[in-house]
Amino acid sequence: MNTTEQVQSSETDVAEESGATPPTRHHRIVVVGGGTGGIAVASKLCRKLRDPDIAIVEPSEWHYFQPQWTLVGGGVVEKEATRRRQEAITPRKAEWIREACTGFDPESNQIVLAGGGRVGYDYLVVAPGIQLNWTQVRGLTPDLIGKDGICSNYLYDTCDLTWRTLQEFKGGTAVFTMPATPIKCAGAPQKIAYLADDHFRRRGVRDGSRIVYATGTPGIFSVKEFAATLNKVIERKGIEAMFKHDLVEVRAGEKQAVFENLDSGEEVVLDYDMIHITPPQGPPDFVKSSPLANEAGWVDVDKNSLQHVRYPNVFSLGDASSCPTSKTGAAVRKETPVLVHNLLATMRGEDGSRFASYNGYAGCPLVTGYGKLVFAEFDYDLKPTPSFPFDTTKERWTMYQVKKRGLPFLYWNLMTKGR
Ligand code: FAD
Repeated sequence: MNTTEQVQSSETDVAEESGATPPTRHHRIVVVGGGTGGIAVASKLCRKLRDPDIAIVEPSEWHYFQPQWTLVGGGVVEKEATRRRQEAITPRKAEWIREACTGFDPESNQIVLAGGGRVGYDYLVVAPGIQLNWTQVRGLTPDLIGKDGICSNYLYDTCDLTWRTLQEFKGGTAVFTMPATPIKCAGAPQKIAYLADDHFRRRGVRDGSRIVYATGTPGIFSVKEFAATLNKVIERKGIEAMFKHDLVEVRAGEKQAVFENLDSGEEVVLDYDMIHITPPQGPPDFVKSSPLANEAGWVDVDKNSLQHVRYPNVFSLGDASSCPTSKTGAAVRKETPVLVHNLLATMRGEDGSRFASYNGYAGCPLVTGYGKLVFAEFDYDLKPTPSFPFDTTKERWTMYQVKKRGLPFLYWNLMTKGR
């Protein structure tokens, strides 16, 4: 028996001995979540393994390229161009289980499905993304988005309504919010404010109007080199920044937004004519309540190897993982080869001495207007790690074209195909 077979059979034995509910099916590798991370990992594994015996657990009929939702909200891209059928994106050698995962039983090497079934695994990859917690803001529910001046780019169904809201703005106060919680794409809440400013100027409704960017964070951006540029952008555009102000209530009827001043604890009320809301976010509930979670609720992995700290046959990447990186698709792009390398090494029975290491790389293409972009790339130490041989802290037309045309091409043709 080779080392891989030994690992596999000993794990199956544990399930049998523990008296756990027997799984209704079993796969060598199970991937929870068929979004950016899940599909990229599954596709790469399918390329590397002749007979991977891999299943992807994903309830959604559609796979989304969410980074384009900012440009949908800005009226640049049609929202239908940001999605493909899950069926079309799932690698041929993988099986798609069209159900939600509702729990993990890592002692028995099983996951639980919404329909009550259990899937056994030898190796597990957890990539269900981040959860949008709309109702953490008093008075806010997703059905309010798209009505009465409230909009959000954070859902496929509503990102086009942002564009409609910008077009309907006749002057007054436009508010853009960013919560104090971790979120996916920390740049997205301000990008749409910059596009709105440009759009309002073109339509002649900017003069006499206020644009307020209210954020729970202490500054405009965590990396000082890019923050310096962005502070100049908000000054040039006349955008009022309210730092350490967290949205806690929306009074939709009165068109009022209530913020908590995170220093004084006082509440600040703003009247708005339109408001773009980035909802509070956190780990998915079914991850948070599982044995895989760390104290904060994220999948508890080593930040360099992406291997679970207690269950060596479990790995995680993307927004649901505990990696203290900026949660972006760009981070997933760099996490994917590391995770696949380390998972395959584990399957061969190797110890971690030759594991690949993820350095926290994240990328955030910060659109600062139509045709302008600052490409922020950095690592765990918040040190810039540019992929381009020029000063990326400057706003550039070329970088805007990379976001608008280059990244979608790379995503659909390379990243999701495991290349
Ligand atoms: P996702 O891609 O969100 O995939 C998670 C998958 O898990 C989904 O398919 C979901 O249906 C599935 N799932 C959920 N619950 C379950 C369950 N119970 N069981 C099974 N499956 C489940 N990133 C960038 O790099 N650059 C950008 O410019 C950028 N801009 C963004 C703008 C916006 C408006 C948004 C919303 C995001 C943006 N991002 C950007 C972030 C990027 O999209 C995410 O960081 C990335 O998709 C994370 O990948 P993931 O696989 O962790 O999660």
